[in-house]
Amino acid sequence: MRPTPTLMPLPDGYAEIARRASSAAAEVAPFASETDESATLDPRLLETLRRTGLSRFVVPAAFGGETERVDPVAICVIREILMSESSHLDSLFSLQGIGSYALTVAGSAEQRAAWLPRVANAEALAALAITEPDAGSDLRALSSTITERAGTLHLSGTKTAISNAGVAAFYTVLAREGDGLSAVLLPAETRGLEYLPGPEFMAAHIGGTLSIDVDLPLTARIGPPGRGLAPVLATLSVFRVSVAAQALGLARKAIDVAVAHADTRTSGGQPLARLPAVAELLARSWTELEMARLLTYRVAELARANTGAGIAESSMAKVAAAEMAGRVVDRCVQVMGRFGVERGGRMERLYRQARAMRIYEGASEALWPVIGRELFSEKTSR
Ligand SMILES: Cc1cc2nc3c(=O)[nH]c(=O)nc-3n(C[C@H](O)[C@H](O)[C@H](O)COP(=O)(O)OP(=O)(O)OC[C@H]3O[C@@H](n4cnc5c(N)ncnc54)[C@H](O)[C@@H]3O)c2cc1C
Repeated sequence: MRPTPTLMPLPDGYAEIARRASSAAAEVAPFASETDESATLDPRLLETLRRTGLSRFVVPAAFGGETERVDPVAICVIREILMSESSHLDSLFSLQGIGSYALTVAGSAEQRAAWLPRVANAEALAALAITEPDAGSDLRALSSTITERAGTLHLSGTKTAISNAGVAAFYTVLAREGDGLSAVLLPAETRGLEYLPGPEFMAAHIGGTLSIDVDLPLTARIGPPGRGLAPVLATLSVFRVSVAAQALGLARKAIDVAVAHADTRTSGGQPLARLPAVAELLARSWTELEMARLLTYRVAELARANTGAGIAESSMAKVAAAEMAGRVVDRCVQVMGRFGVERGGRMERLYRQARAMRIYEGASEALWPVIGRELFSEKTSR
């Protein structure tokens, strides 16, 4: 299968990272369709993550990471490549950062020293627990609570749809404390924390629900009381753009597969690729992929320059790329005809994953207002 070309080469200095990610992706490709359907962690994926050392890219060098600061461009390069073969490996890789970045930016020295080196080596899997049965996009609706009493933090509530639930060694949890939101570090073995399987999603997902009724030391706080949103927003500004890169990898694979099909399958004695209607579906898809790719890497570069800012920009890249992937994979299904909707087929798997992408890490409709606020604010243009 010929890879879809790109107008934009890798940013300078990222070829070796791409080579490592490609080798990891190739290693798991033979069983990716099986592991993407599984709701439990496959040890082969964890082994690949550990051996390739890719999770070192989500932790700063001071704690065993690969780069001095977490580099959003490197994370995008890796996710784009991993996602083209295995959603599960991509998810395992990215959650190491999504679940631990609050510690990197706001954790205490003890928290960082205890957890980040283990995250870097993929010895400890990380998770971020925000969503609740009655709260998703609207963080004001969170009802889990943190109460400080007698030198202890009592954390109580239910978190659901949590990626890595049940396999994570610790959770970064966002919960209500008084009038604000606080973040705390919840180790998996804490008494009073119960993992409940499900719900299962149509997209690849290891995860589930957490029933939480625990006492934690005051040192479990990540940052000051009531200021938990800041490290979560910092996480999103770095990792939301990486969902855009994930969408690029998915869309590129969908085009690769559809082009290979259109080159060989015939209609009226000629390859589908010769039919103008089919060629247009694929040409539009490639064009939109390239537009989203330019935006994604530009935003990743902005986030690299200033990792504390850029939530509007990373939302822009995420919504543009996830919506692009949705349109592209839909067209590619169409090009493949019945083979595009065959259960267990490559395209069907890509289609299901693309659908979920438009919802997690910020549903598209919920991100437009985030972007709009920037448009009407007084911030200077870049
Ligand atoms: C595969 C997968 C993995 C996930 N992993 C995690 C995880 O690791 N940790 C975690 O905490 N959560 C996780 N989630 C949950 C995810 O973050 C939420 O699904 C997402 O935030 C949307 O919330 P919701 O599903 O409750 O939808 P709702 O908030 O109920 O929104 C439903 C729809 O209403 C519209 N809408 C909602 N709010 C607005 C708004 N403000 N403006 C405009 N339109 C709006 C949108 O169209 C949206 O799709 C995961 C979800 C999936 C599917």
